[in-house]
Amino acid sequence: MFRNRSTQQWQDADNTNYLHPFTDYKSMRETPARVVARAEGVYMWDVDGNRVIDSMAGLGCVAIGYGNKKLAAVAAAQLEKLSYCHSFFRTTNREAIELSEKLVAISPPGMSHVFFTTSGSEANETAIRLARRYWDLRGCPERKVIIGRDNGYHGSTMATASLSGINTMHGAGGDLPLPGFAHIGCPDHFLFGAGESSEAFGLRAAGWLEDKILELGPDKVAAFVGEPIQGAGGAILPPESYWPEISRICRKYDVLLVSDEVLTGFGRTGHQWGMQGYGAIPDILTCAKALTSAYVPLSATIISQSVADVLIEQGGEWYHGFTYSGFPMACAVALANLAIIEDEDMIGRISRDIGPYFESRIQELNTLPIVVDTQARGLFAGIKLGRNATTRTLFDEELGVGPWCMQWALDNGLALRAMGDTMMLLPPLVVTREQIDEIVDISRATFEAAWRHFS
Ligand code: PMP
Repeated sequence: MFRNRSTQQWQDADNTNYLHPFTDYKSMRETPARVVARAEGVYMWDVDGNRVIDSMAGLGCVAIGYGNKKLAAVAAAQLEKLSYCHSFFRTTNREAIELSEKLVAISPPGMSHVFFTTSGSEANETAIRLARRYWDLRGCPERKVIIGRDNGYHGSTMATASLSGINTMHGAGGDLPLPGFAHIGCPDHFLFGAGESSEAFGLRAAGWLEDKILELGPDKVAAFVGEPIQGAGGAILPPESYWPEISRICRKYDVLLVSDEVLTGFGRTGHQWGMQGYGAIPDILTCAKALTSAYVPLSATIISQSVADVLIEQGGEWYHGFTYSGFPMACAVALANLAIIEDEDMIGRISRDIGPYFESRIQELNTLPIVVDTQARGLFAGIKLGRNATTRTLFDEELGVGPWCMQWALDNGLALRAMGDTMMLLPPLVVTREQIDEIVDISRATFEAAWRHFS
């Protein structure tokens, strides 16, 4: 199938024609990419046969593990039966209908309709446009502003990068954020709540939303969008008091609450939805990644009956949609994937067994001098590295401690993700205790090596 090439020839060809996402193209020439050849379960192998345990589940998306033959068979059968069907012009397909029914059935109370897209970015782009459409139809077209948070990540399109609170994405020639987006601080207790109880800090951080709504004027704000646990911006687990208070503030000012469940949806935190575990119910929910375990791209924007009622009762065409909205093969794979998650009681297993085990093993790493904070919930963990936990002194970012660790771990058989000096671990939902031990052992060795190198 492939041309017979050495690893270096693959890497040279990679640099010659392929532009990777979120990549420094100059440094790629000095340190070329690893070339992955195959993957099975929680392991992947590069073209030289080196095995890596994937504690990133791809990008937090390979929920049921790699190489599931059942999903491959469902995809192949669907491509033979109905390879494509658009959802425009009063046309539909049974796979998309059944998946929308299924998603509504497992969604938080009050959800009623689903809009399908292909990526997490498109699901959030849809949520943004939908929130504005909703307020237009309700006769409040001036309600336009969408509020996100510092270090929030919602995608890489112009609007979702604007909504994201990642400064490096706003710069770099992009001139973002676009008008109509605002940001509040993120509920990072370690960084912003020193000396304050978690409960008190959570309430104070949620209060920043009320301050921002009042500053902008409640009649100008369409929606607040947040990840239940911030992922790409640094694995930030909020205090328990945070989301209920955010939810109260949204209700008070009639601001739509959008939960970006692209990373947390379908069980990662031991709940079907991340927001569920924090006791808040959104008006709009976006999901992707684990929806198909990344066997094919698919995302969805799920909306409440009260939002849907406005769209339906007011009528008028909504000029929004994509060629691949409701793509039958992706919907068929999602249905089969959700059935596997359910049949194997993966969420129950995470909440009762493997999640608590993972959490306790991650917490053990707190004793290492380089680890200044650990946070874990279900199979979602963040480990902050720094010089001193007591004084909360971090490393100079220029040193690149996190990326150094990411590379060292990879060279020693473990994939984990660095966001600055915070390491994020998101193993596939099927990870076993023995595999968690392997992940923690290599993580420990990585952090010990980093301490020797940087202290
Ligand atoms: N929202 C969240 C919370 C995410 O983690 C991501 C991707 N990491 C996205 C949105 C964007 O998804 P995609 O890359 O599929 O566009």
